[in-house]
Amino acid sequence: MISELSGKLFIGGAWVNGAGGRIPVENPATGDVVGEIAASTVDEVNSAVAAARAAFRPWADLPPRLRAAALKRLGTLIAADADRMARIMTLEQGKPLNEARGEILKLGEACHFYAEEAVRVHGEIIPNDTNDHQSLVIREPIGVVGAITPWNYPAELVGWKLCASLAAGCTIVIKPADLTPFTALAIAQKVEESGIPAGVVNVVTGPGSVVGQALVEHPDVDKIAFTGSSKVGLQIQQSATTVKRMSLELGGNCPLIVTATADLDAAVKGAARRSFRNMGQICIAINRVYVARAVYDEFLAKLKVAAEKLTIGNGIETPDADLGAMASAAPLAKTREHLADALAKGATLVTGGSAPEGAIYARGHFFRPTVVAGCSHDMKVMSEETFGPLIGVMPFDGLDEAIAHANDTPYGLASYVYAKDMDEVRYLTTRLDYGNVAVNNVDAGVMNAPYGGRKQSGVGYEHGREGMLEYMNFKHIRVRTDDPKGR
Ligand code: NAP
Ligand code: MG
Repeated sequence: MISELSGKLFIGGAWVNGAGGRIPVENPATGDVVGEIAASTVDEVNSAVAAARAAFRPWADLPPRLRAAALKRLGTLIAADADRMARIMTLEQGKPLNEARGEILKLGEACHFYAEEAVRVHGEIIPNDTNDHQSLVIREPIGVVGAITPWNYPAELVGWKLCASLAAGCTIVIKPADLTPFTALAIAQKVEESGIPAGVVNVVTGPGSVVGQALVEHPDVDKIAFTGSSKVGLQIQQSATTVKRMSLELGGNCPLIVTATADLDAAVKGAARRSFRNMGQICIAINRVYVARAVYDEFLAKLKVAAEKLTIGNGIETPDADLGAMASAAPLAKTREHLADALAKGATLVTGGSAPEGAIYARGHFFRPTVVAGCSHDMKVMSEETFGPLIGVMPFDGLDEAIAHANDTPYGLASYVYAKDMDEVRYLTTRLDYGNVAVNNVDAGVMNAPYGGRKQSGVGYEHGREGMLEYMNFKHIRVRTDDPKGR
C-alpha cells in the first residue's frame, strides 16, 4: 500500500511522478525502508500553488453547505479506511497500531467538526455614529494556504489545517514531514475519492529546507500554517519574502504542578500518560513536574510503578502496546543527552534510563520511560523541550514557588495542574502563562476549544471556531443609505 504512493505527488487532482530525487522512508521500529518519496522540485511546488490558486475562486464561491458536504464525505471515507491508514502511519512513525487508528478516527471527526463549522460563518452589523451609515463585517477565505507539518501526529496535524482551510473556503498545498509523508499522501487519496475538486488539496513531499521554504517564499501563498520546532518557526517568520498570514504552532516545555490536595493516583495516572504517550514526542507532553513536598516521595514511588507498567513494542506486531518506537534517531539521541546532563548535574534516576532489552528492540529507536528526580532548572530536562520519554521532577514548598518554576521558560504551550482545592485551582490557572491549562486531566487540546501557544510556542490557534477563523479575513463594508426621494 505504501509502494503505490512511493515517489508520487498529488497536484491539481492528479498523481504525478516526482521529477526530482528520491528519499527513503524507514520504519523506526526495524530500520527497514518502507518506501521512497519524491523530493519535489521548485517547479513542482509552483505547479501545486498554481493548481491551488486556480481552484480557489470556485471553491470559495461554493455555498458553505456544499463544502460541508464534501468534508463530511471525506470524514466518512477516512473513518472507513482507518485500519489501512493506521498501518501506513505505524510503518513510518512507530506508534502502536491501535493508537495510530485512534488518530485516524480523530482526523475523521475533525472533518465532521469543521463541516459543521463551515455553515456557521457569520458576520456582524455594527451601528455607526450616524444612522445613515452601517458597517457590515463579513468573513472571507484568505486564499491559498501552505501547510507544513511535523512527524509526531502525521494525520491530525495535517488534518486540522486541511479541514479548517476547506471549511473556510481556502485551498491548500501540504508539505508533510519527511519522516511521515505517506500518511499525508493517504489522506490525499481520500480527498480524491471524496470528490473534492481538483486543486483544492495538493501534497508535495521533500525536504523542508527546499520544499517547505519554497512555499514560504512563494508570493502566491497567502498564508503559512506551520507546526514544528520553534527554531524552524522563527526561520519561517524571518524568511518570508512577502507579507503573509502565519500561524505557527511550535515547541513546548510543559509543566505539571501537583499540589498537596491532589488526588495523587489520578495525578500519577495523568503524568504517566502525558509524559510518555507517543514516546514523549508530543508538543504538549509533560516535560517537568513540580510536586508539593508533603506528597513528593509518595508521588515518585507511584510514578515509578506506573512508568514501569507501560508496555513497549513494535507497533505493527503489538498493536495494543502502550508505546512504540521513537520516530527517528534524533529525538532518541536528544533524550539520552538530556538524561546524561541531568545525572551529571546531580539528578537521581527513578526509573528507566536505557533501551528495553531483547531482540525485538535491537534495530529500532526504543527507550524506556524515564524519570529523574531532585532536578533543578540548570538541567536541560527542565529547561529545554526533550521530545522524548524523559521527565524531571522536583519538590516545591509554596504555590508561588511552583508558579515561578512553571513560568520560568520561553515557551507557553500547555500546562497541567492536579489539585482538589478550588482556591488552589483558581490561583494556579490564572497565573500560568500558557495557552492551555488542563486541570485534573491531561487532555489540554480538544477539538471544541481553541488550542495554541504563546511566547516562543507560537502564534495563532487550531481547533474550535477560532481554528477556522485563522483561515479567514475580515472585510468591513461600510454602507451609506439616504432616505428615499419622494417618500
Ligand atoms: P521541524 O524540524 O521544525 O519540522 C517541521 C516541518 O517543517 C517539517 O515538515 C520540516 O520538513 C519542515 N521544515 C524544516 N525546515 C524548514 C524550512 N526552512 N522551511 C520550511 N519548512 C521547513 O519539527 P519536527 O522535528 O518535525 O517536529 C517536532 C517539533 O514540532 C517539536 O518542537 C514539537 O514541539 C513541535 N510540535 C508542535 C506542535 C504544536 O501544536 N505546537 C505540535 C506538534 C509538534 P522536513 O521533515 O523535511 O525536515
Ligand atoms: Mg526536522
